Amino acid sequence: MDEIRSGRAFPGLLEEMTVEEVRAFGPEVVVLPLGSTEPHGPHLPMGTDTYQVTRLCRLAVEQANRQGARVLLYPTLPITNNANFRAFPFSLRIGIRTLMAVIVDIVTQCKDDGVNKVVIVNGHGGNPATIQAALREISGMDDMPFVCLTSGIAPEGFVSPIEHPSDHGGESETSRMMWIRPDLVRKDKLANNPVGRLRVEALANAYFVRPWHRYVPVSAGGETRASSAEKGKAIVQAHADGLANLLLDMSQAPYDENFPYV
Ligand SMILES: [Zn+2]
Repeated sequence: MDEIRSGRAFPGLLEEMTVEEVRAFGPEVVVLPLGSTEPHGPHLPMGTDTYQVTRLCRLAVEQANRQGARVLLYPTLPITNNANFRAFPFSLRIGIRTLMAVIVDIVTQCKDDGVNKVVIVNGHGGNPATIQAALREISGMDDMPFVCLTSGIAPEGFVSPIEHPSDHGGESETSRMMWIRPDLVRKDKLANNPVGRLRVEALANAYFVRPWHRYVPVSAGGETRASSAEKGKAIVQAHADGLANLLLDMSQAPYDENFPYV
């Protein structure tokens, strides 16, 4: 299915390690990936976000650990926030407050297990506000690990090869899936999918939660026919490189009460 190797060849992949191996590994950093299970148009699978964030994290953690980091990769959460996706069937979701509670619980256990640095890697656009609220809540609790949120970090100067930007199920996501799971991309369904236009143009500069069935009526928006596995590989690998650098630095930085400051 992919080039991910076994836990022994890839230390840090929790699902493939034994309890003795995890104890001996002595993780410095935990990576918690958040995916989603939701429609991605006629051409991409419901698990698109989960496949993407899992591959991103595996590449980054493997690279960081090969360079000497001790990063433990948790399994990807496949069901997160999708309140604004309700008009589509099987857009799997847990509540906003539930996801906050899940994050607080998982981070609390990291502390119990002796890990003081947690990196949440988010692969789903419906989640950041909730994750940020959970981080704010954690910051007000005693004796909690340091937690940060990222969705992958492109190195400085990286120029995206994407010609038709889209918020959902467009050229970027299609390209990434063409590289990660080409067997799941319905190439005969690639099209220029409609995107809703605002009645009040100034709302483009205001925050609101988009009713997804109005914004992307076929559950994916934008031109996808210029997608390619090469573009997808370039994007995922660039973001994995930047994430690997963050993880290596986080792993090697000593932890005390001043963290992340000197
Ligand atoms: Zn997606």
